Amino acid sequence: MSLLSVRNLVKRFGGLAATDGFDFDLLPGETHAIIGPNGAGKSTLITQLAGELKPDSGKILLNGQDITHERAEQRALRGIARSYQITSVLSSFTALENVMLAVQAHQGHSFKFWTPASRQASLTEPASLALERVGLGSRMHVLASDMAHGEQRQLELAMVLAGQPKLLLLDEPMAGMSQAESEQMTELLLRLKGQYGIVLVEHDMDAVFRLADRITVLVYGRGIACGLPEQIRTNPEVRMAYLGDDA
Ligand code: ADP
Ligand code: MG
Repeated sequence: MSLLSVRNLVKRFGGLAATDGFDFDLLPGETHAIIGPNGAGKSTLITQLAGELKPDSGKILLNGQDITHERAEQRALRGIARSYQITSVLSSFTALENVMLAVQAHQGHSFKFWTPASRQASLTEPASLALERVGLGSRMHVLASDMAHGEQRQLELAMVLAGQPKLLLLDEPMAGMSQAESEQMTELLLRLKGQYGIVLVEHDMDAVFRLADRITVLVYGRGIACGLPEQIRTNPEVRMAYLGDDA
């Protein structure tokens, strides 16, 4: 069964259908990339999956359960995590403190009965684990403001992983990165791949073709093709619509 299913999703902004009868399936452990030109509706889709924007019609199912009308907080508790924008990293806090705050946000009130010492450990342990998973184990005590842009994006990812998600919604994780940083983030996502369902929106085609198990092509809010990377690379309609005929 699919981890995530989207059925006939529609979202209009005035006369514009940003999501126009979109269908999508994500298998457990699958990395499924959504590509398409600027304005195709990729971010609008991610925001609806995260529960931050209400669709006009259609359904979103997680493990077969209808979550279309659930709020973002409820979906987060079910394990849906959206990558945060860089602005959510607090620059005057260390990497570890940033991730501890993310763990705390996820734990909610559950730890208020704990002793201060165990409460502290309940934050530092998962936080340092998450930092190690993204390769920042040796940078834990560095202030976020002293980190390179690429490291800050790794830190964001650690903050997402700290919530022990099942499904990652990544909207352009390589945005604003240098070639080297983008390469590093791709390596990192390759290591995480398979452990989570990942919906990946990304413009860096090298990264997409290396990471994706399947690719869906979105144009004007509609999925015009879905298939294995090789099928997408050689699909004439996709090449015309998006990749450019010389791609
Ligand atoms: P992408 O992420 O693929 O570049 P977006 O999802 O950001 O595309 O946008 C899809 C279309 O919807 C664009 O034409 C955009 O201008 C429009 N759009 C996005 N958000 C809004 C909004 N809040 N209000 C009105 N129009 C919007
Ligand atoms: Mg976008």
